Amino acid sequence: MNKKIPFFLIIVILAIGACALGLVACDEPHEHSLTRTPAKEATCTGAGNIEYWYCEDCGKYFSDEAATIEVTQAETVIAATGHIYENHVCIKCGQADPNGTEGLEYELLDNDTYRVIGIGDATDTDIYIPSVYNGKAVTSIGDQAFYNCSGLTSITIPNSVTSIGEYARTQPQ
Ligand SMILES: [Zn+2]
Ligand SMILES: [Zn+2]
Repeated sequence: MNKKIPFFLIIVILAIGACALGLVACDEPHEHSLTRTPAKEATCTGAGNIEYWYCEDCGKYFSDEAATIEVTQAETVIAATGHIYENHVCIKCGQADPNGTEGLEYELLDNDTYRVIGIGDATDTDIYIPSVYNGKAVTSIGDQAFYNCSGLTSITIPNSVTSIGEYARTQPQ
């Protein structure tokens, strides 16, 4: 009996065979050629990483030199920690808090900078004026901005402020 195998079937069989071979080749153990990356601590704004080893042959990441614990690339990354502000200064890197006391009243000036004109809804007793508001420099404090705000204990003014109006203080001098 003469059996005819359709040509397309041969192609399919060949394709499956190649696939299987490919899979076998993939799983075949090989000598990893590992590159070590030392651990790097994450900072307030920059990501760090754990110590890891990378094999450029198979593209895998490992958390141990013996390459027994595989990790993903994402797992090697330590996310940036973000600033921790205390009294409007980051306790970790010393950067000034870009966000001032919430609720302050501002006025946009002709020179595209801001002036603080009043305490607004702010209830803090220590007022912190930011150097930047809405992406623009805060350069002045208006006349009588904090006049009669007797509950205030302090007002911190950034270097960006070059002009302080009359009676901006809580008590006239
Ligand atoms: Zn490898
Ligand atoms: Zn910081």
